[in-house]
Amino acid sequence: MMLASLILLAPPTAVVACRPQDRPGLVAQATAFGGVVAPDRARAQAAAAAGDTARAAAARYLGLEIAPFLIAPDAVSPRRLGCPFVFAWPFAEPGTVGRSPPSHVLPHEIGHAAFLHFLIPRTVDDEYGGDAPDWLDEMVAIAFEDSVGVANRRADGRRHAERHALIPLRRLLAMTHPEWVAAGPSTGQSPGGNLGVPGSPDTPAYYATVRLLFDYLVARTGNPQVLRDLADAARTKVPIDRWMLARVARFGDGPTLEDLDVAMTAFAIGDPAYRAAGDADLRRSQAR
Ligand SMILES: [Zn+2]
Repeated sequence: MMLASLILLAPPTAVVACRPQDRPGLVAQATAFGGVVAPDRARAQAAAAAGDTARAAAARYLGLEIAPFLIAPDAVSPRRLGCPFVFAWPFAEPGTVGRSPPSHVLPHEIGHAAFLHFLIPRTVDDEYGGDAPDWLDEMVAIAFEDSVGVANRRADGRRHAERHALIPLRRLLAMTHPEWVAAGPSTGQSPGGNLGVPGSPDTPAYYATVRLLFDYLVARTGNPQVLRDLADAARTKVPIDRWMLARVARFGDGPTLEDLDVAMTAFAIGDPAYRAAGDADLRRSQAR
């Protein structure tokens, strides 16, 4: 009887095996979240920092523990590593002098992958991200970015708000991701998001508006895990516009999406974090 209980309580063994293994020409580094396999020590450390950022964001904004997981080059087989979740990151080949992407990109991409893996998967091929609305896929990834990325997005949001160049919510909630439109359908991959020159003139406003909508909803609901509620609403096909309007009504925002556009613009101009990000950005541009 007792023995049977002990067997039932035994943890799954696969989780214990999720450690990075040395491979020829690659550096393996164990971390608190699992580990990293990278072309060299410097990129292993940068990837480890990105993994820490992503794990903390998953806990804070989605209420999810995504560890254990590995960050490893495309070529490494996830199954052989014994990890429930492996993030395949195409590091440049060892020895090449490639410019590393900015530090917000890797946690952003882990956010996309974690959202697909843990919350709303992709069930058809020809779409950006998963079955969630494109703006929600993007909002989760943006929430995973590091502090440098957050500050840049907020400065961008403030700039767009001041110019009345944000994307109106009625359009944002219905639109296909501008980078997906620009890349053309059936390319078989999701665009990386700000890895290079935007493929669409709508892209900068799209990212700025999605970040701003996230901050605005967290502030209005007082719930840092509002993304989790949005995912539940999306999964159960609750109309998102009504869902949002119901949650901001007690602040006097609404009752239409056009009223929320006005409220979000005011938020980007008045919120202290947005003001600080905008001021820091202005100082940087004046110093150049
Ligand atoms: Zn993205």
